[in-house]
Amino acid sequence: MVSVIYIASTGRSGSTLLERVLSQHPQIWAGGELYLTWYRGFMRNEICSCMVPFNDCEYWQKIKASFLRRVAQKYDIRYINELIYSHIRYRFFYPKFRIKDEILKDLADIFYNLYESILEVSGRNYIIDSSKTPLLLPILAKHKKINLKVIHLIRECEAVAYSWEKRKIKIPGTNRFMPRYNFIKTALVWKLTHKLISKYSKDLNLKTYKLNYLDFVRKPKESLLNLLNHLDIPYDDTFLKIFISSNIVNLNSEYHIISGNPIRFQKKIIKITPDLDWIYKMPKWKKIILKIICKIPI
Ligand SMILES: [Zn+2]
Repeated sequence: MVSVIYIASTGRSGSTLLERVLSQHPQIWAGGELYLTWYRGFMRNEICSCMVPFNDCEYWQKIKASFLRRVAQKYDIRYINELIYSHIRYRFFYPKFRIKDEILKDLADIFYNLYESILEVSGRNYIIDSSKTPLLLPILAKHKKINLKVIHLIRECEAVAYSWEKRKIKIPGTNRFMPRYNFIKTALVWKLTHKLISKYSKDLNLKTYKLNYLDFVRKPKESLLNLLNHLDIPYDDTFLKIFISSNIVNLNSEYHIISGNPIRFQKKIIKITPDLDWIYKMPKWKKIILKIICKIPI
């Protein structure tokens, strides 16, 4: 049995910060957006948060070897990547499009083997997958040996739209930038994503904790302890000691993720504060349009 804490949300909702803090728990390993492992890691050799490429990161190399050993007779990386592209990434706007049972089974098995490899190498009991897409929920819930716990992370639509329009460096010291999206597109994706997460949580009877991002950044310690209690994840003094004060956190455990926000490269001690720039900097007309799109039920 593998225990997976799945962060379900939209991009720019604070999942990288959340998983970094949670991964200070001695039994939790943060994996980042794991559905991109084969594309960004195995195929493109992108840079890990430890600042070396995937193929030079000793943790990922051990995980890769363990994974390939488990699935060698069943799938090759190109096939895995194709499955993820056609049945997860590009299915987003067609969620009702049904995946054939045998493909669903393959996908669940592929993720299960990746999770097992990560837990074997890290020696921990829980893994965080912050893939965020709701479309993975029915796939993971299908596997009898995946004990799935879901964090439904919600950040205000306006803050997410503001962040996607901002110019942001992808990797420190380079001139590579994060992609940017128009606020209307962000609002539509935001709405559909949260609707799907709520629907799957209910229909599949998932153990889900709704976390409001603003509550987390205002009271990190309190909200994380509530979350751990709700998801039945035990913790002791080792985890509590990471909080130097209520919002200053010591981040010093091993952290190796190959995708995510630039905050994945920050180290050691950080102060968690709400980023409310959008309230002052976003034009009023945009806020009104976003409110209309995001608040009206579909
Ligand atoms: Zn690494």
